[in-house]
Amino acid sequence: PYEHMLKIRKQNVSPSLVTYYKKPLLLHQGHMQWLFDFEGRRYLDLFAGIVTVSVVHCHPKVTAAAQKQLGHLWHTANIYMHPPIQEYAEKLTALLPDPLKVVYLTNSGSEANDLAVFMARIYTRNFDLISFRGGYHGASPYALGLTSIGSYKHVVATGLGCQTVRWGWGGNEGRGTEGETRSCCHAKDQYIEQFKDTLNTCVPKKIAGFIAEPIQGVNGAVQYPKGFLKEAYQLVRERGGVCIADEVQTGFGRTGSHFWGFQTHDVIPDIVTIAKGIGNGFPMAAVITSAEIANSLAQNLHFNTFGGNAVACVVGSAVLDAIAEDGLQKNSEEVGTYMLLEFAKLRDKFEIIGDVRGKGLMIGIEMVKNKESCQPLPAEEMSLIWEDCKDMGVLIGRGGIYSQTFRIKPPMCITKQDADFAVEVFHTALTRNME
Ligand code: PMP
Repeated sequence: PYEHMLKIRKQNVSPSLVTYYKKPLLLHQGHMQWLFDFEGRRYLDLFAGIVTVSVVHCHPKVTAAAQKQLGHLWHTANIYMHPPIQEYAEKLTALLPDPLKVVYLTNSGSEANDLAVFMARIYTRNFDLISFRGGYHGASPYALGLTSIGSYKHVVATGLGCQTVRWGWGGNEGRGTEGETRSCCHAKDQYIEQFKDTLNTCVPKKIAGFIAEPIQGVNGAVQYPKGFLKEAYQLVRERGGVCIADEVQTGFGRTGSHFWGFQTHDVIPDIVTIAKGIGNGFPMAAVITSAEIANSLAQNLHFNTFGGNAVACVVGSAVLDAIAEDGLQKNSEEVGTYMLLEFAKLRDKFEIIGDVRGKGLMIGIEMVKNKESCQPLPAEEMSLIWEDCKDMGVLIGRGGIYSQTFRIKPPMCITKQDADFAVEVFHTALTRNME
């Protein structure tokens, strides 16, 4: 069936939906942190369907909850009440600090961020929004305006009134390690100056909002200098804007030390957007905000058909249970810290590893021509390593403004043994392709 599938894929599926690997994988089963192809080959899944399989592939309790709900009621649209919406909203908001207690359920991260923009503008009656260089917030019109990774942008869909702060420097995004961004640590004041400068390019004292991922995901686990986000929040609020935390990748315990990424920055956002890991692969997302902001939206009817779908809500609840019952946040912290240190040892050994950074199970390995120049490793060389890892049974993601970073974000059940296997495979791929 492989050749047939490939033919159909090329003929009938948009080429804009790019497949990974020269010879794309045809997968048919997921179990725990593993994926299986039709030849029975097993792959350690270090990318989790793009940071989405949060608990494990086909978690038995989540699957059972979905199956049970499928036999009762699939959908009514949110114009009627059914228990799963209320139960989920209560359970989710219990995990968030005051005043973040009101949930609006959507279908994707892009849709959640579009709605967050809409809320920020309606609530503040202002227009300008600020996002960061290297940030990814989605592909729908508003969200794409906030995204600043060039390959996703199109001439026809940019410039929707969103300023983009250019923070960071030249090629490398954040050479650092062990959860701290070395160079960044010394540059906070410089970034704050840049941030103020950008605020000054907006309509004076009339910011609608500021959006940031607590750790940049698509950009390859790029972290901010300590205290930077907190100061940025203050500056935005002084100018009347709301602060939006895009927790699409950092939420649900992935960063280990905290359930939400914003908690590591000692801030409380006005709006939080979530997707990906929320449903362990089931399509759902949400925006959470205060009653005050939610009420300002309420006068402007905003609707989507599938948000709050009964099966999605039951899945969402079961995912929250699984994270707690299986101790997955703690596991993210333990295995993530271990794996980061193991990969960091390779950085010291190989001239082409410019940086190993991240937090919990959100790790970025930035590849360079050499440590001196810090120029991005060319795409062909990146691919040699990456394809070889796949051939040895390890699936890794890619990202970064220059596509120079490998991304490691596995299901949160991964073990230290898996981490050892991944590091060994990566080591072999580096050795036999680059020396
Ligand atoms: N925000 C972040 C941080 C993301 O990583 C993504 C997806 N990569 C999105 C928003 C958009 O989510 P979706 O693809 O579900 O629209």
